[in-house]
Amino acid sequence: MINPLAQLAPSGHWHQLATRVLEGHRLGGDEALAVLQAPDEELLELLSAAYQVRRHYFGNKVQLYFLINAKSGLCPEDCHYCSQSRLSQAPVAQYPLLDEATLLDGARAAWQRGAKTYCIVISGRGPSEQELQAIEQVVPKIKQRLPLKICACLGLLDFHQARRLKACGVDRVNHNLNTSRSFYQQICTTHTYEDRLATLQAVKAAGLEICCGGIVGMGEQPQQVVEMALELQALQAHSIPVNFLHPVPGTPLENCWKLNPRYCLKVLCMFRLTNPRSEIRIAGGRELHLRSLQPLGLFAANSIFVGDYLTTRGQPPEEDLAMIRDLGFEVECIPSDEPSSQPNPPAPSPTDPS
Ligand code: SF4
Repeated sequence: MINPLAQLAPSGHWHQLATRVLEGHRLGGDEALAVLQAPDEELLELLSAAYQVRRHYFGNKVQLYFLINAKSGLCPEDCHYCSQSRLSQAPVAQYPLLDEATLLDGARAAWQRGAKTYCIVISGRGPSEQELQAIEQVVPKIKQRLPLKICACLGLLDFHQARRLKACGVDRVNHNLNTSRSFYQQICTTHTYEDRLATLQAVKAAGLEICCGGIVGMGEQPQQVVEMALELQALQAHSIPVNFLHPVPGTPLENCWKLNPRYCLKVLCMFRLTNPRSEIRIAGGRELHLRSLQPLGLFAANSIFVGDYLTTRGQPPEEDLAMIRDLGFEVECIPSDEPSSQPNPPAPSPTDPS
């Protein structure tokens, strides 16, 4: 239980920490762990301190992202959290890369919902040559028609593939660390933590922004969440999606239910204070784990996905927009110079970031 009177306590140490962060202090492991282990009585002050940093860099703006599950299932990898992995018995849709028209429809749906970034996500270890060519063809068409940033989540990439993505207009690549180096073997054995780091280095070398985050609640220790946050600090990730595990029946982690909403908020505060300038996005599992405390998450994070996740449903976009309005926050707008005469296509049915 949060005791509001506790907020009257004169300590203010979380605000002092936030002030030091704004002066350039980089949180170390012990300080970050203290955030995760803060007593619930200090949660409001902690959120207020995270908000001090969030407001400095992002004001009261909320960035919306929209995902399309551009290729689903059929993955030979064994990421234990993923309903599309070869270990999963979950009944997920299986289809190859969507055709160009559907990807264009998805972009329009993203724009119509106020999203700033359209995330094209495919299942699999990495893109085939054919899939890469399809992305190279569709991205310029999207950018000609709509003022959207494009984030591609295509799995492992080498430098040449990353450079091709940059050349065709992709702004950013998502490739999550997913967890800490010390816990990685517990959640995936078909590719390594170093493979993921190598992809991120290739993406950076190609001049692309990196979107890189992870999943909390897979059985890791709080110290390991801190380890991941500090790795992201070292990588200087532009954007950090923080997922809370949505245990899908039929996956190896189906019985992993270890989170409470107050801990989830502390996680978001820790990511904000360790990575003050990065976009922090509340990603998969937002509705499931934050529940009635969802709005409070936006005092630390500055971004959410609007619509569904890859294979799980999100709350309706109208509820997200109402939540943002009720907080007195604003959706970060993109220039709307798109011709209005074009028909509004039906929204596609994208279905947790890889
Ligand atoms: S997270 Fe990506 S690489 Fe891992 S099993 Fe799922 S689709 Fe495959």
